[in-house]
Amino acid sequence: MSQPILLAHFNRYLWNTANLLVITGESKKIDEGRTAYNQRYGIRLSSPNQEAQLERLMAAVGLAAVSLAERESWGFSMTLRGSNVGFFCAVEPEGLICGQMRPAQSLIARAVVQRKKNQEPLTQSSYEPEGQDPVRAVQEYFEKATQISTRISVTPDGRGALLQTLPGSTLDFTVAASDDQIVELVEQKIETGELKLLDEVLLFYECRCSDEMILDILTGLPEDKRAELWQDAEQLEVECPRCGREYVLRKQVLSPKVTASEPGTIAPTENAETDPGLKSL
Ligand SMILES: [Zn+2]
Repeated sequence: MSQPILLAHFNRYLWNTANLLVITGESKKIDEGRTAYNQRYGIRLSSPNQEAQLERLMAAVGLAAVSLAERESWGFSMTLRGSNVGFFCAVEPEGLICGQMRPAQSLIARAVVQRKKNQEPLTQSSYEPEGQDPVRAVQEYFEKATQISTRISVTPDGRGALLQTLPGSTLDFTVAASDDQIVELVEQKIETGELKLLDEVLLFYECRCSDEMILDILTGLPEDKRAELWQDAEQLEVECPRCGREYVLRKQVLSPKVTASEPGTIAPTENAETDPGLKSL
């Protein structure tokens, strides 16, 4: 690849005196990486408001992923209250992060989170996000699905902090604080050496899609659904459900291939639990 990879720095710390886990991350490089990626593959942008929402989601998902000691694949699909657009963001153990908008299938707020460790089966949880901010929705995942008290703050310029309780600690002191105040507090604690660095992680905007992965999604569809997609066409334009990149598949390539889907591929989920993310076709 000739383009430089834009690396976003995320760090994992232990705040000993408060007994908290703290994650910081600068997500601007992820956003710049997305812009470059979309230009490279001719993927059109959504409205500025939706792009800003997606950027907030990617920042929060990045912080959430780095909160674990062991890297996993994560996929967040969400439709927020009153929104006619759904958001998807995935992060991989190798540091790839990508995101995309897709039409909301209903006005009911819903978030689906899929996680997968290497060599282990995929786990899925869903919940109803309460607000209209993707950052809050990711925070609610920890509260609703894992019962771990967590505060996630992302400033308008993409500086983020995630604070999480360890046994016996509390986040009560953050309740009245603004996101800017939380991020500034964490930055100050880093500067004074009060946080102990546990881990440094680099994230970059990239999708793991390829001709093979798109082909595998299609060959995994039931026969009748495949016939319905193809009809009499000689070629099919398929959008990657994770990043929006368009692939063109020719008919003869598809027929005899029998390949198992790549393990760990997490695609956007809406209503059906097994939706491979190709409903927009
Ligand atoms: Zn893709």
